[in-house]
Amino acid sequence: MNFLEERIIKDGVVKEGNILKVDSFLNHQLDVELFDQMGAEWAKRFEGVEINKILTIEASGIGIACVAARHFNVPVVFAKKSQSVNLDGEMYTAEVESFTHKNKNNVIVSKKFLNENDKVLIIDDFLANGCALQGLISIINSAGASVAGIGIAIEKGFQSGGQIIRNLGYKLESLAIVDGMDPETGKINFRN
Ligand code: 5GP
Repeated sequence: MNFLEERIIKDGVVKEGNILKVDSFLNHQLDVELFDQMGAEWAKRFEGVEINKILTIEASGIGIACVAARHFNVPVVFAKKSQSVNLDGEMYTAEVESFTHKNKNNVIVSKKFLNENDKVLIIDDFLANGCALQGLISIINSAGASVAGIGIAIEKGFQSGGQIIRNLGYKLESLAIVDGMDPETGKINFRN
């Protein structure tokens, strides 16, 4: 087991509805030391890949992306969530269905902060069905930028997102892949 898997076993809570609660270290209270270890691990896994920007999505991705960015020496841009369609021509927008909140948000990134020269590493906390990632990829494509890779903290491997994203050919590095979890017993199985 790696450091993140160990932490999930120690402090993660399995909830009904395929939700893994990790708010004591990843989603509410933030363990910055752990984020630093995660950043170092992604830097190792993406060694030799040209990356000049990190893109994440508010809110939970921001802290992780900022600490990881110290290992890549690049700026972080986060996609903002808005309730209404933004018709301002200066924004890239994509519609994203929220797994946890079950609503749809338009996520937006200003055209000022993403362009065709950017080689973007996407960072996020969870990968479930892949909607958040597909929204971010669509924004990167709209900008004419390229996706250099994707770093996820926790992938729920029993949901479809990971397979969809890998089948599209992206280099996806999830630090922990949960292949099964049981809300009754609290047991969590990781992929080897
Ligand atoms: P997806 O778009 O891949 O379906 O879901 C990813 C987003 O939903 C993540 O950014 C994360 O915020 C949230 N999410 C999905 N599954 C979980 C989960 O089991 N626990 C938590 N805390 N967040 C989740």
